[in-house]
Amino acid sequence: MKSCRIVFVLLGLMFICSSIQAQRSEQDKIKELEQLNQARKQQEVKQLMDSAVALLSASKYLETEKVLNQVLKSVKAVSSELTYLIGENSFHLAKYRQSIDWLTKYIQLKGTTGEFSTQAALYLRRAEEALSSEVRQQRAEAGEILSKDFDIDCGPTGKVICPVCSGKTVIVKRDYLSEKFTKCPHCDVHGFLTCEQYNLLLKGQLKSSTN
Ligand SMILES: [Zn+2]
Repeated sequence: MKSCRIVFVLLGLMFICSSIQAQRSEQDKIKELEQLNQARKQQEVKQLMDSAVALLSASKYLETEKVLNQVLKSVKAVSSELTYLIGENSFHLAKYRQSIDWLTKYIQLKGTTGEFSTQAALYLRRAEEALSSEVRQQRAEAGEILSKDFDIDCGPTGKVICPVCSGKTVIVKRDYLSEKFTKCPHCDVHGFLTCEQYNLLLKGQLKSSTN
């Protein structure tokens, strides 16, 4: 009777053990599948990135854009390399605003020491130049009349609150690392411009002074 009970208990224990084991191996399998899936996705993204780089260096910008859009759809977070590639490719497609947006991201992420920092700064400058000449061109085509083409009467005081520093006499320059305070190079100690200075400023001809 006693040995019978022992056998019974042993059988019970064996059953519990095997069911725990089965449960574990089931969890392991799921984990393994997830890892495989993730690795496959990473591999796909890597292949897409490689093909984007190849297309970009072959100057096939429209094809590059398609591939980059595919990458954007399949990643959870955008890598710095991807921000650069989109930025450069957008420049070649004359999407200057978009180019500036992504290249600025890259520079914010990697500073001046990133793999693509030099090119990023170069394309950013070119995109900014291209955008501003595009804006000028559009204005000319639209026949817009702009105030900067006229002299502005500043009223009886002959003074205007400096628009560069909003009359604070100090300019804050922020970059991705720090804030720098410099004295406004245009206005007087009270934050005012003379009317002449103001008109020169509107025309982009006001030179910095050290007053
Ligand atoms: Zn000022």
